[in-house]
Amino acid sequence: MQDATAAPGSLYIVGTPIGNLRDITLRALAILKTVDIVAAEDTRVTQGLLNAHGLRKKLLALHEHNEREATERLVADLAAGKSVAYVSDAGTPGVSDPGAHLARRVREAGLPVFAIPGPSAVATALSVAGVGDGRWLFHGFLPNKATARRKALEGLRALPYALVFYEAPHRVRECVADLAAVLGVAREIAIARELTKLFEQVHVCPLGEAEAWLAADENRCRGEFVLIVQGAPEPAADDLALRATLQALLAELPLKQAVALAVKLTGGKKNTVYELALELQKHGHPDDHPA
Ligand code: SAM
Repeated sequence: MQDATAAPGSLYIVGTPIGNLRDITLRALAILKTVDIVAAEDTRVTQGLLNAHGLRKKLLALHEHNEREATERLVADLAAGKSVAYVSDAGTPGVSDPGAHLARRVREAGLPVFAIPGPSAVATALSVAGVGDGRWLFHGFLPNKATARRKALEGLRALPYALVFYEAPHRVRECVADLAAVLGVAREIAIARELTKLFEQVHVCPLGEAEAWLAADENRCRGEFVLIVQGAPEPAADDLALRATLQALLAELPLKQAVALAVKLTGGKKNTVYELALELQKHGHPDDHPA
C-alpha cells in the first residue's frame, strides 16, 4: 500500500465528513496527522474533527474573506518546504466551498497539489436518490432572489441531465415551488436532507407534490438539503423529425402553408403541428425543445 505520509512542499486538498465524523478516510487522517500546517475554512469546525480523531494541530484560517492573503502565505510556506493540508467545513473543498483558488495558485507556483478524496453531499445524495439515468449537472446553490432563481432555472429547463442543487433550510420551500413552476410539475425530485446524520431522510416524489410534502411537517424543512430533479425528457424520434421538417418549411413558407405541408409529410395531427409551428416561430432555434 502507498505511503500516506505528507511530503515536504506539497499541498493536500482533503475531503472531510458531511455529518458523521467517522466518514473520513485512513489516508485523510494520516495526512492530517503528518502535515506541518492544517489550513481550514473555519478553524473551530476543523478543531472539532481533529479532536474527535485525537489529532492536535495548529490551524490556520483560509475562508472566502481572506482567501487571497492566506493563499499567498501558504504558497510561501510550501515554497519553503512545509507541507499543508486544506479542509473546508464539510465535504470536499472546491465544491461550493473555498479551495479552488488555493489549488490553482499552488499549481501555478510549480508546487504539487494532491487530492485526498472524501465525501461530498452531491455524490452522497446521488448515490441514494435513484433519480435520473446517471448523467447529471451540479448547479450548487441557486440565486437567493426569486427572479434571478427563476431565470437560472429557465437556462436549465431543456437539459436532459438530472439537476443537482444545494439549498438552505429557510429557502427550501420557495426553491421547490420555483422548481415546479419552471421545470414542470411532472418531473421527479429527490429531497435529500441531513445525509449521514441522525435524521437522514430521502423523499422522492413528483415536483408538483414536493412543496406540500415539505409543508406537511416542519421537521422536513430542517437541516441541510440536496435537491435532485430529473432531467428534461428526450424528445421522441418522431418529434425530432416533425421539428426538423417544420423548421425547414417555415424557413420558406408562410405558417399556414408550412403546417399544411408538414401534416401531409409527417402524418402529424393538425393541432399539434400548428402549436409546434407557433412555438418554433416564437423561439426559433432548431436545437431547442420544450421541457
Ligand atoms: N463542500 C461540501 C460538499 O462537498 O458537499 C458542500 C459545502 S456547501 C457550503 C454546504 C451545502 O452542502 C449545504 O447547504 C447543503 O446544501 C449541502 N450539504 C452539506 N452536507 C449535507 C448533508 N449532510 N446532507 C444534505 N446536504 C448537505
